[in-house]
Amino acid sequence: MTTIRETLPEAHRRLFPAVYDRPNVEERRATCSDCAMCSRSEAPGTIAFQPNLKCCTYHPTLPNFLAGAVLADPDMAEGQRRMRARIASRIGITPQWVAPPRKHRVLLDAARTTSFGRSKVLLCPYFVEEGGGLCSIWRHREAVCSTFFCKHDAGAAGHAFWTAHKRFTAHVEVVLARHAARAVFPGAAEPDFPRMKLTLEDLEDRAPSEIDYAACWGEWAGREEDFYLRTFDVVRSVTRDEMDRLLAEEPRSEELARDVATKLDAITAPRLAERLVPNPNLVARPLPGGAMGVTTYSAYDPMSLTPELWAVLGEFKPEETLAETRARLDRDNDLVIADDLLLVLQNHAILVPPPA
Ligand code: SF4
Ligand code: SF4
Repeated sequence: MTTIRETLPEAHRRLFPAVYDRPNVEERRATCSDCAMCSRSEAPGTIAFQPNLKCCTYHPTLPNFLAGAVLADPDMAEGQRRMRARIASRIGITPQWVAPPRKHRVLLDAARTTSFGRSKVLLCPYFVEEGGGLCSIWRHREAVCSTFFCKHDAGAAGHAFWTAHKRFTAHVEVVLARHAARAVFPGAAEPDFPRMKLTLEDLEDRAPSEIDYAACWGEWAGREEDFYLRTFDVVRSVTRDEMDRLLAEEPRSEELARDVATKLDAITAPRLAERLVPNPNLVARPLPGGAMGVTTYSAYDPMSLTPELWAVLGEFKPEETLAETRARLDRDNDLVIADDLLLVLQNHAILVPPPA
């Protein structure tokens, strides 16, 4: 049994709370080696990714210690070459992060709906177009890359779990990156510039000015690789007690960790709501052959319903409890709907609890 902890980078996995010792959540429909999003479908409205891009049309924001882990890994020559090129560019390179160029964030934000998985302009600099598309820094990938799946076995409930996991993991990365940067260089600073805005240099794909870069890096400018390696050493020496103290200083730590456990419980021990109604935000498109394609929580995970199942959705009404609806369908239509099917419909947010 693989635990959730074992799916995280080695650098800091031991610092995560006990909920991370529970079994990993397998996403069997996200078949990455034969990408589930890359098959051509004739169904209208279906999104298809390019096989030479997949979902890696994203530029990770790597915390300093994971950049150090890449540089220290003896079996990661290609990832190191790419990491060194990123560092040498000085674009998005700060004491806490090896971050995307700001321009990339702006472009991704503006083009995500139309172009994610479909445009090379957004491709990750660590993506290798070999063997069906590989990550050159996989063992040390960050929170978003560790938790993204295009499809979830448990549908919207699975998505909610991975989102909670991503938020807590990203939170841990922020806490550790800041701690490690300060430990190596107390004068380290991050650029003070608003999100989703661009400097002249950003716009023209140039490095920040010497003055701006030196304001962040001080005496470490030009020795960034060494700096990242040292932050990796700092994080490797953080104890669980120390981590607990660092997290306790952050107001949202407990809430974010608790949310991981709550969302994990919802998919490992799911319970049917007392009342369910068709999701008012569901998008439906007729498919060839009479089935109905429905999209709820994600455009990447449409479901196909038989005409019979589609018709029965209208039987679920807010004035009846689920038990009453099932009893009526059994009595009047000789129709028995199994718990398993209702759980699938609930997990995929095809049926949802009515508004309170
Ligand atoms: S998670 Fe990414 S690589 Fe894996 S199947 Fe989905 S789109 Fe493809
Ligand atoms: S770091 Fe790896 S997993 Fe993440 S986007 Fe890049 S290639 Fe994909």
